[in-house]
Amino acid sequence: MTSQPPPRQPPPASGEPLDAQPTQEEAGVALGAIVDIDGTLIDTNYQHTVAWGRAFADHGVDVPLWRIHRHNGMGGDQLVAAVAGDDVEEQLGDAIRESESQRYAELIDEVRPLPGARELLTALRSRGCPVVLASSAKPGEAERYLDLLDARQIVDAWTTGGDVDRTKPHPDLIAVAAERLPEVSDFVVIGDTAWDAVAAGRAGFPAIGVLSGGFGASELRDAGCVTVFVDAADLAAHLESALDAARAAPAAVAR
Ligand SMILES: [Mg+2]
Repeated sequence: MTSQPPPRQPPPASGEPLDAQPTQEEAGVALGAIVDIDGTLIDTNYQHTVAWGRAFADHGVDVPLWRIHRHNGMGGDQLVAAVAGDDVEEQLGDAIRESESQRYAELIDEVRPLPGARELLTALRSRGCPVVLASSAKPGEAERYLDLLDARQIVDAWTTGGDVDRTKPHPDLIAVAAERLPEVSDFVVIGDTAWDAVAAGRAGFPAIGVLSGGFGASELRDAGCVTVFVDAADLAAHLESALDAARAAPAAVAR
């Protein structure tokens, strides 16, 4: 993460607005964007919460839904132990994850893109920011979301929970996403949960938060987000200032 401002540019050519800003590519500062999917681009968090609740109940484990919701953003490899404890993970983890896959499949036809999701991706690209989608979701679910967003031609790459052994809040998924764009050295992570921000910090990148996943602004800031917006549409409308805040953030410290 660099804190240096982009180099000054020559005046715009005749006919261009005087306040025209150079794209990041023109300025020589390519800030890559690593963008979460669930709760950030696609409205899935409450369906996932219900699916996990039903999956735990299928195996006789009673977990209040609010506790599950607080752990949205983790992949299934992390969520079972975090919500229900190590003993449940050890004895029932794989069975509960299998149930959750089935339960979520019952609900997936309900999920829709969040307001401004596709516009955020195109706005990032129009500012010269390469985009990698980084989701803890299972590969088949992520493929479905790409179709819902009609984003295969917009994003540069994507990663899923199938690409790593440990999902968020571990930094593995963020690191793999960054590796997909080896020509880019600085990234910002955009996500809806505290786990996105923690994973970003552990990977050494700043994070921008959105409230569309149900986490509060103070939670997201406490987890390390440098700035927070209502949703993808709000972030797209204020993208330049958001990216400036990310560029100005000190290098994240591993926690
Ligand atoms: Mg998310």
